[in-house]
Amino acid sequence: MNAGREPTRIDIVETETEADAVPVWLGRPAQGDGTCRGGYGAAVVAYYGADCAYCGRDLSETYESWLDLSVDHVVPRNAVGAGFPAEWIEDLHNHVPCCRACNEFLNGFRMATEVPADIIGFLALRDSVLEAKRARAEDRHRRERQNYQRWKAGSR
Ligand SMILES: [Zn+2]
Repeated sequence: MNAGREPTRIDIVETETEADAVPVWLGRPAQGDGTCRGGYGAAVVAYYGADCAYCGRDLSETYESWLDLSVDHVVPRNAVGAGFPAEWIEDLHNHVPCCRACNEFLNGFRMATEVPADIIGFLALRDSVLEAKRARAEDRHRRERQNYQRWKAGSR
C-alpha cells in the first residue's frame, strides 16, 4: 500500500522463522512405573539414544549392559536449592542416559553459577556442565582402569 509496509511484513516473517528455532521446554520425562528401566529411562533413551552421555558405552547391547542404564540430571538437582526452577532441572533437556559407573563417579558434582535468564542460557549451561562432567568421568575411568589392571596383575 505504501513504501513503509513491505519491510514490516518481512520483519514479521523473519521473527516467525526465528521463533521456530527457539528451543522449548520438553517437560518432565514420562515416569512409567517410576523406576529408571521401567519408566523415565525409556523416555530419555527414546530422545537421546542408549549410549552413556559421559563414556559413550552402549547400554542397549546386552541385557547386562541394559541393567547398567541409569539417568543423570546434567545440571544437578541440588541447583534447585541455589534458585534454579525445579521444572528446568526436571525437564527432559536436563536428563541424559548414563551408565551406573559414570553416575557413581559424578555423584556429588557441584557447580557454582548464576541462574540463567531463560531456556537458551540454561541449555548453554547444560552443555558446558556436560563437558565438565565428561572430563571428570573420563579421568575417573582412567584411574579405575589402572586400579583394575593392578588388581588383575596381582591376583594371578
Ligand atoms: Zn558411562
